[in-house]
Amino acid sequence: MNVTTILSHLVSFPVLGGESNLSIIHWIQTYIESHGITTTLVPNEENTKASLHCRIGPAVDGGVILSGHTDVVPVKGQVWHTDPFTLTEKNGKLYARGSADMKGFVACCLAVLPTMIKADLKKPIYFAFSYDEEIGCLAAPDLIKHIKKTYDETPTYAIIGEPSLLQPVIGKKGICYVKTEVNGSAGHSSGIHKEISAIHESTRLMVWLENKMKTMANTSVDDRFDPPHSTIHVGQIQGGVATNIVADYCSFEWDIRVIPKDNIHQVFEEYFAFCAEREVEVRKKFADFKISNTLIHPPVPALDTKETDSIVGLVQKLTENYKWETVAYAAEAGQFHEAGYESIICGPGSIEQAHRANEFVTQEQLDSCVVMLEKLIMELS
Ligand SMILES: [Zn+2]
Repeated sequence: MNVTTILSHLVSFPVLGGESNLSIIHWIQTYIESHGITTTLVPNEENTKASLHCRIGPAVDGGVILSGHTDVVPVKGQVWHTDPFTLTEKNGKLYARGSADMKGFVACCLAVLPTMIKADLKKPIYFAFSYDEEIGCLAAPDLIKHIKKTYDETPTYAIIGEPSLLQPVIGKKGICYVKTEVNGSAGHSSGIHKEISAIHESTRLMVWLENKMKTMANTSVDDRFDPPHSTIHVGQIQGGVATNIVADYCSFEWDIRVIPKDNIHQVFEEYFAFCAEREVEVRKKFADFKISNTLIHPPVPALDTKETDSIVGLVQKLTENYKWETVAYAAEAGQFHEAGYESIICGPGSIEQAHRANEFVTQEQLDSCVVMLEKLIMELS
């Protein structure tokens, strides 16, 4: 099967982040095993989802992991000119949800599989395909753990095929989403002097977060990123029922994106300490005052590959793109990096098209990615 045919199969499985991906992962598994390669599934606890990994080539150190995810983001509320789950070609562009992010890369890996098998690989290539990437890179930690447990040998590199127009991406901010909930007391607004407004208390916390960002921006900079500092942003707030009622509940959701040298956990510690301080203070007046914080997903670590790391030279040689970039979106690259693999993001299609209506990847990008993987095979043979 050529890469386009494979991609048309992959996009026909409308598996969203959070949903069961067994349909698509079983299709991929059947395809790989029909070529005589043994695969391993890494299921979730409920057995409703699974990641897949396999090795092509000898069990020796120094191999390359090719990483992709099988889930996509929703199409709800978007205006599509074609069926998002049917690959549709128009003027060299292949339209479908996931065509760029990132079933295009998975299709390239699968299309090149027969060549990998035929080649006399001296170092192995691994596939690592996950689920639930789009809702916080949830499956990658387990998948990576399983890879470490399964293979006695140690791979050196990981290429994460997120859409980058085949430009090497060496840096990514660490990311986490948090929900803060505040419980105060209800009452008539004229009695605010006796009550604790959850909204007023929430604003103190939000100002703390904004000041924290300013402090970090002034003290810690990494010029590879735009902006070159960590960011904190409150994106949603809910609370209150009427202008003349003191709000007894308020919640807000915020995200933090840190440059590699800043530490998400450190910021959390300081913020949680400030919340605890406020609780002690306010409870003197209202004993049931409460602030709770929930991480919407575990923090996704930063990707911090150095320009001089050998993965950069390798991927530059394969793509003939001698520049590199950094990004600020979440991706499993941070988790592979944290696990000790030299990691880089490089895949077909553009992040500009990802998550939008009428997502596409060009045939040219897919073909170039196939060439990149064929060069990788030659490099490892
Ligand atoms: Zn993606």
